[in-house]
Amino acid sequence: MYGCAICDKIFKQKDLLTQHIQMHGEPKLVCHHCGCKFKWRQSLGEHIKHCKYAPPGEKLVVPALSKVPWKKNAGLNPDDL
Ligand SMILES: [Zn+2]
Ligand SMILES: [Zn+2]
Repeated sequence: MYGCAICDKIFKQKDLLTQHIQMHGEPKLVCHHCGCKFKWRQSLGEHIKHCKYAPPGEKLVVPALSKVPWKKNAGLNPDDL
């Protein structure tokens, strides 16, 4: 039995699973530290926390969310926190 890692469907033949995974499309999110690919931003964020190739500072940043300049929005000095 072969399970799809993306939607948990089960297939008896590996060929069917391969076809099925192609239907999902290519994973678009790539960990730029180790090259691991992810379909979901959440998965990538989780991965980066544990990725042994990511520098410590990077592990605090969840991709895409880091685009938001929260410091300006909140009007807070990060040193005060
Ligand atoms: Zn699937
Ligand atoms: Zn990684």
